Amino acid sequence: MTPQTKASPRPLKPSVSPEMNGGSELNPWHQAMSQLDHAGALMKMEQPVLERLRHCKRILEVSVPVRMDDGTTRVFEGYRIQHNLDRGPAKGGIRYHPQVSVDEVKALAFWMTMKCAVVNLPYGGAKGGVICDPKTMSKTELERLTRRYTSEISIIIGPDKDIPAPDVNTNEQIMGWMMDTYSMTIGYSAPGVVTGKPVDIGGSLGRREATGLGVFYVTRELAKARGFDLKGAPVAIQGFGNVGSNAAKAFHERGAKVVGVSDVTGGIYNEKGLDVDDLLAYAASNHGISGYRKAQAVPVESFVEVPCQILVPAAMENTITSKNAHKVQARYIIEGANGPTTIEADKILAQKGVVIVPDILANAGGVTVSYFEWVQDIQAYFWSEKDVFAKLQDILVLAFKQVHDMSVKKSVDLRMGAFMVGLERLAQAVRLRGMFP
Ligand code: NAD
Repeated sequence: MTPQTKASPRPLKPSVSPEMNGGSELNPWHQAMSQLDHAGALMKMEQPVLERLRHCKRILEVSVPVRMDDGTTRVFEGYRIQHNLDRGPAKGGIRYHPQVSVDEVKALAFWMTMKCAVVNLPYGGAKGGVICDPKTMSKTELERLTRRYTSEISIIIGPDKDIPAPDVNTNEQIMGWMMDTYSMTIGYSAPGVVTGKPVDIGGSLGRREATGLGVFYVTRELAKARGFDLKGAPVAIQGFGNVGSNAAKAFHERGAKVVGVSDVTGGIYNEKGLDVDDLLAYAASNHGISGYRKAQAVPVESFVEVPCQILVPAAMENTITSKNAHKVQARYIIEGANGPTTIEADKILAQKGVVIVPDILANAGGVTVSYFEWVQDIQAYFWSEKDVFAKLQDILVLAFKQVHDMSVKKSVDLRMGAFMVGLERLAQAVRLRGMFP
């Protein structure tokens, strides 16, 4: 019996184009599966491949006991989820946040599978997370949490198996502790087990800037394709962490005008443009941008509505939804964050003529330089920053062109263009490997 003839109990959804059903709007996994179904239907993807991509390969849930500074013990819940390994080892970040959930981590792992395929990296997708609020924890508590979490997930991670990286509320130091914990367990240094590490212990030059810089590179390619000028273009950036702050720097240094920025503490806007270096220094010494005086304050909840030409959501999922999409003034949205725009919002924005460069292309600069870091670690041969940025640019320019060409050829938006490019590569790997046993 061929795989085609054995029907799955789950019927394939029909093409859902304008009536595409996002499931529950704020559930990232439902949103992700709706995107997959839509792309699969447009491509007439065979059922066995789609059915396999609708499931995560491995879901590991761990409890992480931590001795707190006051002598009590708290047990945190954590996850490591590998969505697909057909194109190579799993790759994806680790998030520390009170709102981490299994459906969120599943969706983020799925988007990593798609992203790695879109930029043609030899990786599958994964993600991890711990339900915690790192803002209320001391550095020593965070270190103990990180080391115990690493130990708990060490049964499925490794340089050849699954390579974590930073995400929301995790950073180079946390990657350093992860690398050390894993290395202590196996008895020798294994820098290739995580990326986004400090440069002194096997990190790559340029990794810190990579995601934000990549956001700029794809915006520049969009500007070329759509014939608009980035010089002086007003840009608003939601989120001022790794992605948002480095995107702000990249836009500012290359002549665009950063008019608005927000983070969890507040939003600011100045139509004349912000001095990004001054703002970075302010945010570093004040634990956020709230209270910055050289701009007007904007509520965090309505930040995406500020006047601008280019909006870069670089914070969390679901910040642009059916509730606020009609108030967005931007002409272009470049998704620095993963999953910031819901399917319902996508529809409203499409009607308004807003062009969206999707997360699986727009923020792929991070995983691309993570890939470079892993390659450098394996070879123990390190590249210059110039080489890293040149290679990053080559990969993103090519990926943008392939996605843009696909969207023109198939008359779909850039999100579906990206899904179609990624899905075709992924499907080919699934077909060629076949099914075990
Ligand atoms: P981060 O922890 O460094 O920064 C997150 C920022 O978002 C902080 O400034 C925080 O204050 C802000 N924020 C949180 N909620 C907000 C809200 N409601 N409104 C405004 N700001 C808010 O995290 P990061 O690494 O910059 O990740 C941001 C996003 O980019 C996430 O979706 C992540 O998955 C995605 N991403 C990160 C990378 C990477 O290399 N770090 C790569 C690809 C995608």
